[in-house]
Amino acid sequence: MYGETGFKDGGQFKPHKTHRNGLSVDFMVPVRNGDGKSVPLPTSPLNKFGYNIEFDSQSKFGEYTIDYEALSLHLYQLDLAAKREGIKIWRVIFDPELQPHLHDQGNWGHLKQNMEFSTKRSWVRHDEHYHVDFVVACE
Ligand SMILES: [Zn+2]
Repeated sequence: MYGETGFKDGGQFKPHKTHRNGLSVDFMVPVRNGDGKSVPLPTSPLNKFGYNIEFDSQSKFGEYTIDYEALSLHLYQLDLAAKREGIKIWRVIFDPELQPHLHDQGNWGHLKQNMEFSTKRSWVRHDEHYHVDFVVACE
């Protein structure tokens, strides 16, 4: 599920400190509901389109649980798609306290070799979304 990207012609994109050069994309975390079914994160203007959602240390928000298998498969496919276009994922910003769940996934070896993961807490918690920066060579 897409989160914010940036303006068509770039430039400052508040409240983000990045998202200025067209190479940053936020994705809202994939979740499963109380029945274990994969559903979109419930976003609306009332929760700042999902950005105000807080997941606890058990990766839960109400009945919703972060689906780390889907998240890691998404990053894997995104990496393959980027390479097909001749570009790369530079880094992924995601809550360092939740990241260990990605280490348990089958493709972690591929992910850690092909993209950097944030290791420090950033200015906003990245629990309900993960931020991906791409690298594109200059012409
Ligand atoms: Zn972002």
